[in-house]
Amino acid sequence: MRAEMAQAAADFKARWNTVPGLAVVRAGEDPASVSYARQIAKAFEAAGMAFQLHTLPDSASQQEIVALVAQLSADPAVHGIMVQEPLPKGVDGVAVVAALSVAKDVDGVHPENAGRLLQDAGDYFVPATPAGGMEILRRYQVALKGAQAVVVGRSNIVGKPMACLLLHQHATVTICHSRTVDLGAVTRQADILVAAVGKARIITGDMIKPGAVVIDFGMNRDSGAMVGDVDFESAAAVAGYITPVPGGTGPMTNVMLLQNTLRAAEQLLNR
Ligand code: NDP
Repeated sequence: MRAEMAQAAADFKARWNTVPGLAVVRAGEDPASVSYARQIAKAFEAAGMAFQLHTLPDSASQQEIVALVAQLSADPAVHGIMVQEPLPKGVDGVAVVAALSVAKDVDGVHPENAGRLLQDAGDYFVPATPAGGMEILRRYQVALKGAQAVVVGRSNIVGKPMACLLLHQHATVTICHSRTVDLGAVTRQADILVAAVGKARIITGDMIKPGAVVIDFGMNRDSGAMVGDVDFESAAAVAGYITPVPGGTGPMTNVMLLQNTLRAAEQLLNR
């Protein structure tokens, strides 16, 4: 997919004489956000696409962040915008997202894109992480129609959109969260099990139906190592397919961000 994106970016440049580009906004220096931005920068560079990082101090006010997002939304050289979380304390994320151009919202956080995803209506941007999970399922030709899918986690950026996407593909979807009683009893029903929890190895092999397809979005630091929400060793012994951490859904997120940015650029230039 990286090679496909590089080719698509080259074709785009030849056609429009413009380099498609993403602007990332970050306030503060949260280590996970810093490292994520670095990975995105690398992915954009490798694909021959433009990347701008706009950093503000942790002390930045809501007004300053909103002004920067509004300025980038109006800048014709910027095709995609991503605002990194966490935002500084006291800054209202709703106000920041409201300043974001829907047409440049390549991580699908604007309520208009999220609403269209819920309705599966019209053209919309899907958050890059669940979009990557779905692309893995598509490329491995995992049958979704009628399948029992269980998504553990209900965040707006991973769990909920993933559940919606599976539903649109006609899976029977169950969403679990921190108040779910007997998580294992639910996950053991899953033909497709998705973990988006943020707790190291919370899902173990005994919680997985033999042959199930396991998509692990978790990225957790465990004594310096990066591990998923799924205990890979015990799960791999039971699962039919399983994504590794690192190296599975993480790189896919970056690729989907390239794809969404390219699409945004095409749509903006076609207007
Ligand atoms: P959030 O913290 O926003 O959401 C976590 C979800 O897990 C919540 O819905 C929470 O339930 C649920 N949860 C917490 N504890 C339990 C439990 N014991 N049993 C069942 N459910 C539980 O996290 P994100 O969705 O933002 O991220 C999830 C994971 O994905 C993280 O590890 C994150 O680092 C990773 N991530 C990976 C990306 C990638 O590219 N692969 C990109 C983005 C995130 P409740 O709602 O009740 O609190």
